[in-house]
Amino acid sequence: MDCVTVIGAGLAGGEAAWQLARHGVSVRLHEMRPTRATEAHHTDGFAELVCSNSLRSASLETAIGLLKEEMRRLGSLIMTAADAAQVPAGSALAVDRHIFSDYVTQALSTHPLVEIRREELQTLPAGPTIVASGPLTSPALSEQLRQLFGSEYLYFYDAIAPVITTESINTDIAFRASRYDHGSDYLNCPMSREQYYQFVEAILAAEKMPEKDFERAIYFEGCLPIEEMARRGKDTLAFGPLKPVGLVDPQTGARPHAVVQLRQDDRAGTLWNMVGFQTKMTYPEQRRIFRMIPGLEHAEFVRLGSLHRNTFIDSPRLLRPTLQFKERDDLFFAGQMIGVEGYLESAAAGLLAGLNAGRLVTGAPLLIAPPTTSLGAMIAYVTNDERRDFQPMNTNYGLFPPLPGRLRGREKKAALAERALQDLAAWKEKIT
Ligand SMILES: Cc1cc2nc3c(=O)[nH]c(=O)nc-3n(C[C@H](O)[C@H](O)[C@H](O)COP(=O)(O)OP(=O)(O)OC[C@H]3O[C@@H](n4cnc5c(N)ncnc54)[C@H](O)[C@@H]3O)c2cc1C
Repeated sequence: MDCVTVIGAGLAGGEAAWQLARHGVSVRLHEMRPTRATEAHHTDGFAELVCSNSLRSASLETAIGLLKEEMRRLGSLIMTAADAAQVPAGSALAVDRHIFSDYVTQALSTHPLVEIRREELQTLPAGPTIVASGPLTSPALSEQLRQLFGSEYLYFYDAIAPVITTESINTDIAFRASRYDHGSDYLNCPMSREQYYQFVEAILAAEKMPEKDFERAIYFEGCLPIEEMARRGKDTLAFGPLKPVGLVDPQTGARPHAVVQLRQDDRAGTLWNMVGFQTKMTYPEQRRIFRMIPGLEHAEFVRLGSLHRNTFIDSPRLLRPTLQFKERDDLFFAGQMIGVEGYLESAAAGLLAGLNAGRLVTGAPLLIAPPTTSLGAMIAYVTNDERRDFQPMNTNYGLFPPLPGRLRGREKKAALAERALQDLAAWKEKIT
């Protein structure tokens, strides 16, 4: 039986290697640290949490809480380590980052089927391989990927706009229309002159994330965060992403002073993207300020805006839902690199890639996670080949196939979680 090479011992690579080994498959795990550093990691431990020590909500009322439970039931090393390293954090699961990383490092280093190689892989090896080198993939390997895919399929930063659930948008105010009567594809949040200037003032005064050097290059490429546009002049946004041209508010019969446009983000129409709203305002400030927008007073954000270095691939065009490269059966991708966003989402993608790479080498049929689970809904999102303009995404209930009936709020989330865990149990029987 072939040995599987895993590139990167982060959240995804660590989990993938574990799943392979626990299913009896030999692994060669390459980790370039400490020989070669990244700009965010500080240790040479596996599964290092580079920023926050929170793995977010533990409640089944959230898709990330559900994902944790699914991973536990699938024998995840990352979840076992997280539960062992837990620190008090209310309804969230937060960990002592050193205990967590030591646990993962120890489990993998002592497993007889895992060979650890502390070296950078600069080229893709032949034979079964999982690429899990993360958002800060080394330049040499990034160049290899660029050559394999072509530069239009490999991205180096996120410029993410917030995404909102449909049911939280006030459609008494937000109206459907495309500019100049070309259909009704967008939801439009109209602003009066006074509302617009208050909004701009709030953006200017908001707390922002510190700027890093590489980000100036991003701005230069024409991907300006809204606060930078606001800083350049109080009317800049009204002539940019908030321009009202070609739109008439049916309530007033007149053109608004400014308009925030929302674009449908999923086929089911449960999610809406704020057009042109990439930002480096802190998350609490985004929630507060974006709820000033008429029609978004009660907005529920499934993703907030950001702008940061992130190597990721155009998964909808390149990957199958098994996480195999469409043009090479034994080449898998996992982690933040496939366009999932977050520690746990990255690890969950590693779990699926590990299971499938193991099945490939043992001759078992490959698996697609049920789309009704948090894992499956997220993988279906990132590998949906109808998706254009791909941007990374956290798991969230807006990605799930709808339930029959008209459940809302907590009841709906409880029913989604229940269905997910039932479907997971049936799917799990195929794995063992
Ligand atoms: C600065 C920053 C802050 C973030 N903060 C958060 C946060 O607070 N919360 C959150 O949920 N998510 C956060 N993320 C997003 C994401 O969840 C993490 O980046 C997460 O670690 C991704 O997991 P991964 O396994 O895909 O990559 P990583 O955990 O980064 O693992 C990839 C591993 O591959 C190694 N590697 C890279 N290239 C090679 C090579 N050529 N050969 C061998 N090894 C290689 C790296 O050293 C690394 O150990 C952040 C991302 C960044 C960049």
